[in-house]
Amino acid sequence: MKTSLFLGFLLLTSITAHSQQAWQRTLKLMGSRFDITVVAEDSIEGNAYIDMAVNEIERIEKLISSWDPTSQTSEVNRNAGIKPVKVGRELFNLIERAQGLSRLTDGAFDISYASMDKIWKFDGSMTSMPDEKAIESSVDKVGYGNIVLDKENSSVFLKLSGMKIGFGAIGKGYAADKAKELLIAKGVEAGIINASGDMSVWGSQPGGMDWKVALVNPLNKNKVFALLPVKNGAVVTSGDYEKYVTFNGVRYAHIIDPRTGYPATGIISATVFAPKAELADALATSIFVMGIKTGVDRVNQLPGVECILIDDKGSIHTSENVELEK
Ligand code: ADP
Ligand code: MG
Repeated sequence: MKTSLFLGFLLLTSITAHSQQAWQRTLKLMGSRFDITVVAEDSIEGNAYIDMAVNEIERIEKLISSWDPTSQTSEVNRNAGIKPVKVGRELFNLIERAQGLSRLTDGAFDISYASMDKIWKFDGSMTSMPDEKAIESSVDKVGYGNIVLDKENSSVFLKLSGMKIGFGAIGKGYAADKAKELLIAKGVEAGIINASGDMSVWGSQPGGMDWKVALVNPLNKNKVFALLPVKNGAVVTSGDYEKYVTFNGVRYAHIIDPRTGYPATGIISATVFAPKAELADALATSIFVMGIKTGVDRVNQLPGVECILIDDKGSIHTSENVELEK
């Protein structure tokens, strides 16, 4: 659960000598809270831009939702083990990039995780650890290698019956990137698309100051431990603050290791800085699975990517180029 609670962001929207102002709207999209901020001349212009962003995000939701039976994604899932499904270029490309992200994370990130969702419930309804055998067999239908892409026909085939894909771990990041891209194309100079803690940012505040994100330790939410400037790029926080279960003293996050079927343990919050929210979102989710050491090592190998992690004891770990004042 990515909550804007961990990563509240500060909007210092004072009216300045410029006529430009920041306009903001909060609404529910893709089942989550979105805060959309644009810099514009007046409220009419600001609202028109925000409407465009909302339309774009709703368009993407229709494409990637696995709940909506009429989405292309649902059609792919319905035809698992049966036949390839022709999809639009946009969805095809998204799935292709998701496979790339699986390779980048050695399989920690996997959009075919979705069939494991039957075993683990993070809504408070689970009273005991699932059966070991059931966990083991839940991963039988998982594996990005079983997503067959045919570029020429723009088709997607899930090889195994019962297999499913889902974009829970990158959909909001992708939507934030696309909304930002659209607004830039329309001439909006600055803004923030915040999809429940998946933030895509561009330009600066009216008056010229950088946008800033405030990082909060989930174990001590009143205390901001870092206030970081963000110019043009993305900041994404994944946290298990609300969605987790505890069995025998072990806290299990709602992010599942696709290789074992067991939920990730040890990390309670992962914040990733990257040029795009899609990449940051996928990495934030994967770091939960990879663990602190492997996660930080992987991030250190990626240019333009940084991370700040909080473990279950409340300690902070960062990638090489992050300096937090102690
Ligand atoms: P949030 O739930 O906060 O939006 P995340 O980006 O951390 O955030 O994604 C978690 C969601 O991703 C889960 O609820 C589930 O839908 C999906 N998911 C769980 N494990 C994996 C995984 N290993 N790879 C890809 N997606 C996953
Ligand atoms: Mg994610």
